[in-house]
Amino acid sequence: MKIPVLMYHEIACRQDTASRLAVTPDAFASQLGYLRDEGFTTISVAELASALAGELGRLPKRPVVITFDDGFADFHGAALPVLLRYGFSATVFVTTGWIADAGPHTAGIRPGRMLSWSQIREAAEAGMEIGAHSHTHAQLDQLRPGTLRDELVTSKALLEDGLGRAVPGLAYPYGYSNARVRRVAHEAGYAHACAVGNIMAGPRQDAFALSRVTIRRSTSLATFGTIASGREAVLFLKDRSLTKGYALVRRTRALLTGVSRGA
Ligand SMILES: [Zn+2]
Repeated sequence: MKIPVLMYHEIACRQDTASRLAVTPDAFASQLGYLRDEGFTTISVAELASALAGELGRLPKRPVVITFDDGFADFHGAALPVLLRYGFSATVFVTTGWIADAGPHTAGIRPGRMLSWSQIREAAEAGMEIGAHSHTHAQLDQLRPGTLRDELVTSKALLEDGLGRAVPGLAYPYGYSNARVRRVAHEAGYAHACAVGNIMAGPRQDAFALSRVTIRRSTSLATFGTIASGREAVLFLKDRSLTKGYALVRRTRALLTGVSRGA
C-alpha cells in the first residue's frame, strides 16, 4: 500500500510571489476537489506514522496526507478555509524563528508573510496538525552537533509551549537529513519526521524519513491525479535522480568543509 503525502508551500497568485513552489488558490481548490471526488480521506502525519508502524487496518480506504512547509500566512487565509469546506485536514510544519510575532525568538530572514501565533492556534483548534520545521530553517545535515540539537529542541519547545499540546512531528528544511540528523531528531523527542523524496510513503519507510511529493506551480491537475493515485514513479524518475546527484554533491561538500572546521 502506498499513501500519497503531498507537500505544499505557499498558496498564492503569481503576482503575489515569485516562488515556483507557490500553488495558486484556484489550482489548490481544484486539487482538493479532485481528492474529494475520488473519495480520498485526509489523515495526519502522526496517523500515517502509526499506520506504517503496523496499524494499517485503521486507515480509511483512500488515505492522503496534505502538508505545508515553512508556515506562510496564506495557509490561514487561502488554504484553511478551502480545507475546511472540503472536510479535509492538513499538517503545517512551522519554522518557529519565522513566526510573524516570534518576538525575541525571531531568527533568520522570513521568506514572505508568515503565520502569527494566533493564526497557528486557530489552525490547530480547527483540527490541523502542527509540526516543527526547525527554528531557523537551517540545512540540518550541515550543522555541528550542538547547533543541530538547538534547532530541533527549540522549535519543538516553542510550539509545545505556544499551543499547549505535544508536537511529535518534524519536517526537515529542504528535506535534508542524514543518519545523524535522524538520530538527533529522535533524541530530541520527535516521534517521526518528513523528508522530500518524490516517492510515496509505503510500509517499509523509516518513521524519520517519510517521503513526500512536491506539489508546485507547474503541477497540472492531470499530474496531480497521477501523483494522488500512486502512478507517480515514472513521472518523477528524473527528479529523483537529480535529488540523488545533488545529495552526493552536498555530502562531498560537507566532507571538505564541515570536517576540516571540526563540525
Ligand atoms: Zn521549508
